Amino acid sequence: MIEKIKELEKHALQLEPNNEDRLHWQRKVEQYAFKFIDDLPHTKTYIPTEDGGKDLLNHPFSDQPIKIEEALNILDKNVDTPGLNPASGGHLGYIPGGGVYPTALGDYLAAITNRYAGIYFGGPGAVRIENMLIRWMCSIMGYPETASGNLASGGSIGNLIAIVTARDYKKIEPQIIQESVIYLTSQVHHCVQKAIRIAGLHRAQTTYIPVDENYKMDVNALQEQIKSDIADGKKPFLLIGSAGTTDVGAVDPLNDLADVAEEFNLWFHVDGAYGGFFMLTGQGKAIMKGIERSDSLVIDPHKGLFLSYGLGVVLIKNVQAQKDAHQYQANYMQDALNDTTELSPADLSPELTKHFRGLRLWLPLQLFGLAPFKSALDEKLMLTQYFYHQIQKLGFEVGPFPELSVMIYRYVPTKGDANDFNKKLIHHVQQDGRVFLSSTTIDGKYWLRIAILAFRTHLTTINLCLEVLGEGVEKLK
Ligand SMILES: *Cc1c(COP(=O)(O)O)cnc(C)c1O
Repeated sequence: MIEKIKELEKHALQLEPNNEDRLHWQRKVEQYAFKFIDDLPHTKTYIPTEDGGKDLLNHPFSDQPIKIEEALNILDKNVDTPGLNPASGGHLGYIPGGGVYPTALGDYLAAITNRYAGIYFGGPGAVRIENMLIRWMCSIMGYPETASGNLASGGSIGNLIAIVTARDYKKIEPQIIQESVIYLTSQVHHCVQKAIRIAGLHRAQTTYIPVDENYKMDVNALQEQIKSDIADGKKPFLLIGSAGTTDVGAVDPLNDLADVAEEFNLWFHVDGAYGGFFMLTGQGKAIMKGIERSDSLVIDPHKGLFLSYGLGVVLIKNVQAQKDAHQYQANYMQDALNDTTELSPADLSPELTKHFRGLRLWLPLQLFGLAPFKSALDEKLMLTQYFYHQIQKLGFEVGPFPELSVMIYRYVPTKGDANDFNKKLIHHVQQDGRVFLSSTTIDGKYWLRIAILAFRTHLTTINLCLEVLGEGVEKLK
């Protein structure tokens, strides 16, 4: 048996490469990464693909290893070339962000040390970092330091944690689900509807309140609806506002919504996955006044703080409510119970073993300081206003004045169908590939969107975007 164990050990030791081999891999990865970043200004943002990286299928897993050079070639050709390049400043579709460099280093360190950030007992430093980040975000958003939250993988999970907490806090048990009412607008992000369903609330009454001409929730209509629901014997319990909608970047009148929530004793949740970090700017703070009065709030550092994908945050004022909705005990966890110096993420979210996500935010904040983040956010706000004026000079019709950094616009040709024309125009932009734009449909109207939030997007990028759109219109007219 000893002989056999030693034999196995010899093979297993391949999982611990020596210094020289590590350095070789590391250098190759570094060269690849630096070339990727250096090439960004000259690479297309979108490269249409026929085969969608299908060659990957020709490299199945086997007992035999391949060389790092080969692995990187496979990735270059099949993963990092076709489709959308979200690291590019030309990414102006959906909601961009980019991926600031120290995020990669934070992920790297978290992966090497593999610190456990689920329970304070096991990883006190890691948990402390995550909780410090949560307290820092609370202070930006005007939440008290006593609020809690969770560093989740994204805004979708953040919204789910908040909605589940609201459900349990408001005691929405199966027998009363059908008369329980949730208020939102048609402009909420679809992950909110998804979370409502996953939380088992799809049989609740999801009531869409009309929006005004700027796509913000109509507060009077909300009040009327709640009153009439109460008169009908229903149980209003949850109000969901948006701090920056995906379609047009609209911010609901949060302070008014907070008044209504207070008056009717509703849980007030705000989805600020896109817009929340504009609280670091004067303009954002003014528009989002009242956000601090919500009960729970979602913000996405992988959007508004330009991190690579993988970090969305939920903040919740009532710690006990968040705990009650998520905490669970097991005998094999009994050693970890007693230390209450810091809250443990595992007690506040569905996760147990998790990536030490805090480091991917902690390191950029420490290495850059906050100032460049604030400047970049202000820059994006101004670029959007610049685009709003310039695009009209090209003859485009525009939607509401952008309060944040998303706006809609469309070209209305003198003859022919406008929806058709703009569909062709977006196709032209995407085939061109120098910048990437996406579109949306609101009340049957086809609109082009621009979302300016990639940290690599600057004035030259916006001018290039205007050029591509101008060329498109000339070609299609
Ligand atoms: C992106 C977004 C979400 C979803 O967040 P993910 O991080 O993609 O899971 C939710 N709400 C809004 C307003 C968003 O912009």
